[in-house]
Parts: sequence; structure tokens; C-alpha cells
Amino acid sequence: MIRYVNVKSRMRNEFIDITEKVQEVITEEGMKSGVCYIYVPHTTAGITINEGADTSVQRDIQTALTKLVPFEADYSHREGNADAHIKSTLVGVSQSVFIDEGNLLLGTWQALYFCEFDGPRHRRVAIQLIKAVTPS
Ligand code: ZN
Repeated sequence: MIRYVNVKSRMRNEFIDITEKVQEVITEEGMKSGVCYIYVPHTTAGITINEGADTSVQRDIQTALTKLVPFEADYSHREGNADAHIKSTLVGVSQSVFIDEGNLLLGTWQALYFCEFDGPRHRRVAIQLIKAVTPS
């Protein structure tokens, strides 16, 4: 069954730590060993794993992305959010993380981030847990 985590962004560009919300889904489902697949069904958002302790890293990533993909440029897309679509493709819309002993197998400094590129908006993130098959 696909579960959803709701996310409310407050800024046009914003990284939101969803690690705890995803972990809650795993705990509620009682999944001990497997893979957690995290997918963002949006064209102007993304999902990434990076530094969770020092929030300046998120700001540096956002600054670097905006340097690469400025808000205004010679874009064909007339909706005014071409930069957000391009950032979504650069970052990607999915991640998969192993589940080990009921917990997301993230490194000490890693966190799962929902990446908003065209906020503020209400968004949702789809979570699918796949149970590990162990040989009997
Ligand atoms: Zn658009």
C-alpha cells in the first residue's frame, strides 16, 4: 500500500527535512527489513539526501542550484517556473533507502529532504515499503 506524507512549504525555494515523518510510516507499518522508496509526484519539487546537522549546507545547495538555473533566463516555458522544472530534474524525484532493524539506514549526518522549487504549496510525498526477502 502506498502511504503519503504531507508537506507544506512556506517559501519558493525550501528544503524540508522529512526524515522523521518517513520513519513514522516505517514504524507504523512495522517494517523491520527492506527498502523504503520515496517518490515526489510533482514536476517542480524533488527529493534528496544530504547533511542534516548543519542547515547551512541546505542553503549552499539552494544557492548553487539557483546560480546554475536562474529564475529568469531565455526559457520557452511560459508559466514562469521553468527554473523550478529544471531544478526538479537535476535533483530528481525519488530516493530509496534501506530499512535495517526497523530504521532508515541513514548515515549519522544524513537527512531526507523534500526540495521545494516553486512554493509555497501543499505537497505530498509517496512512500512505498518493500519487504526484504530472506532465503529460508
Ligand atoms: Zn510550469
